[in-house]
Amino acid sequence: MPSWDVAVFGGGPAGAMAAIAAARGGARTLLVERYGFLGGQSVCSLVTPWMAFHSFERQVVAGIPQELVERLVAMGGCPGHLPDPLGVAATLTPFDTELAKLALLQMASESGVELLLYSFAFGVVRAGERLECVRVAHKGGEERIEARYFVDATGDADLAFHGGLELRSGRETDGLHQPLTAIFKVGGVDVEQLETHVREHPEQFLLEPRFRNGGMPVIAISGFFEEVQAARLAGKFPIARDRVLLFGLPRRGEVAVNTTRLQRVDPVDPRALSAAEVEAARQILTVQALLVERIPGFSKSYILQTPVQTGIRESRRLAGLYELTGADLARGADFHDSIARGAFPVDIHSPDRPGVDCEAGGRQPDYGIPLRCLLPPAVSNLLVVGRALSATFEAHASARITPTAMATGQAAGTAVVCALPGRADLRALDPRPVRDRLRLAGAIV
Ligand SMILES: Cc1cc2nc3c(=O)[nH]c(=O)nc-3n(C[C@H](O)[C@H](O)[C@H](O)COP(=O)(O)OP(=O)(O)OC[C@H]3O[C@@H](n4cnc5c(N)ncnc54)[C@H](O)[C@@H]3O)c2cc1C
Repeated sequence: MPSWDVAVFGGGPAGAMAAIAAARGGARTLLVERYGFLGGQSVCSLVTPWMAFHSFERQVVAGIPQELVERLVAMGGCPGHLPDPLGVAATLTPFDTELAKLALLQMASESGVELLLYSFAFGVVRAGERLECVRVAHKGGEERIEARYFVDATGDADLAFHGGLELRSGRETDGLHQPLTAIFKVGGVDVEQLETHVREHPEQFLLEPRFRNGGMPVIAISGFFEEVQAARLAGKFPIARDRVLLFGLPRRGEVAVNTTRLQRVDPVDPRALSAAEVEAARQILTVQALLVERIPGFSKSYILQTPVQTGIRESRRLAGLYELTGADLARGADFHDSIARGAFPVDIHSPDRPGVDCEAGGRQPDYGIPLRCLLPPAVSNLLVVGRALSATFEAHASARITPTAMATGQAAGTAVVCALPGRADLRALDPRPVRDRLRLAGAIV
C-alpha cells in the first residue's frame, strides 16, 4: 500500500489549499515544497493583493481561501476585501506576505497535513495510465514518494512534464509568454502626499469613476504615464513598461511596486531565469530611482523587501480533458462539473510591447472552471491545479489569478477525498459529490 493517500507537490496558494482540503477530508496527505515555507508566489514573489474573490457584488471564491483571509484579518495582516479603485476587478484583498506564510503553516499543520519542505520534485515513475511515484531531491539525496493520488501544484506543471503528458506553453501564435515581474516592497512613502496628487490629477490614472472624487484612500495606483515617458526620454527608464503600478500594503507608508518587466524569458529554463534575476535587480534599482526622483510622496522612500524569486505569470499549462477558452469567459460559462469560479478579467501583460495587449478592466462575468481542466487525459491519478490548469493563453490570463488558483486547489483535494473509497479513476469521477462536498465546506462552485 502506498504511504500516502495523496501527495501534493508545490505549497503555493493552490497546493496549500489542496493539501488542507484533502487532510480535512480524512486523506493521509503529504505536501512537498522546495522552499522552507508555504504560499508560493503570494509570498516568495510578493504578489499582493489577491484579486478577485468577487464578481460585481457577489462573492465567487470562498471556502478555505476565505478562511485564510479571515485568519489574516484576525492576525492584523489584512483589511479584508476592498473595492478595487482601478475598476479592474470587483474587489482586491491586500495582505501581509509574511503573516500569510505563518497562517498557511498553521492551517496546514492544524489540518493534519504532513510537510516535506526543502524538497524538489524532479521526476516521476509512470506505469501506463498511473503515476507510481514522484522522485524528489533533498539534502538526504533522492526520495521516492508513493501515493494513490498526486496533485501537481508546482505552477509549472512539473509532474505532468516529467510524466510525458501533453502540455501547452505561451501564446498560441508564437509561444511567447507574459513577462516576468520582480515585485518589490517600498517603505517610507508619504501616503498623504501621494493621495493628494492622485486626487488632484485623476485624469493621469486608471481609476474607477466612483474613486475620481478622491473620497477613498488609494490602495492601488496605475498611472504616472507622463513621468515614465519623461524618464524614458531622459534615458533613465530602459524598461518595457508604460506606467507605474503599485498597491498599498496593510501597514501605512508601505507599497508593493509591480512595474519591472522581463520579456522573452523562458520561464522554465534555469539559465534564462538566472540572467533574468540579474536584469530584475537592475530594473528594481531603476524603478526605485524613478520613484524617488519623480513620484510625489516617494522622495524619502526606500526598498524594504525584494522577492525570493522574480514572479512568473505563466509557463507550462496542462492540455486537459477540457481547455477553458476566452469564449467561455466572455459568456460567463457554466459547466456540469464546475468546481471553482473565476471573475478576473483577461489581463495580458504584453509579451513583446511596453503596454498591455488586453487591458484588464470592466465587468467580467464570473465563470465556472470544470473539473476536467485539472485532469490530464492520459493518466488516472493526477490533478494539475493553480496556474498550470488547462486553458488557452487568453483564458489563462484570467484564471491564473490567486483566489481562483486557491479554489482549484481546494477542489482537487476534495476530488481526491471523493475518489479514495472506490480507488476511482479521476477521469471517470462523478463530479456531483465533489461539488456537494465543496459546497458543504463553504466553497462556491
Ligand atoms: C508579477 C505577477 C503579478 C501577479 N498579480 C496578481 C495579483 O495582483 N493578484 C492575484 O491574485 N494574483 C496575481 N498573480 C498571479 C498569482 O501570483 C499566481 O498565479 C499564483 O501564485 C498561482 O498559484 P499557484 O499555487 O498555482 O502557483 P505558485 O504560486 O507559483 O506556487 C507554486 C509552488 O510550487 C513550488 N514548486 C515549484 N516547482 C516545484 C517542484 N518541482 N518541487 C517542489 N515544489 C515546487 C514553488 O516553490 C511554489 O511554492 C500575479 C503573478 C505574477 C507573477
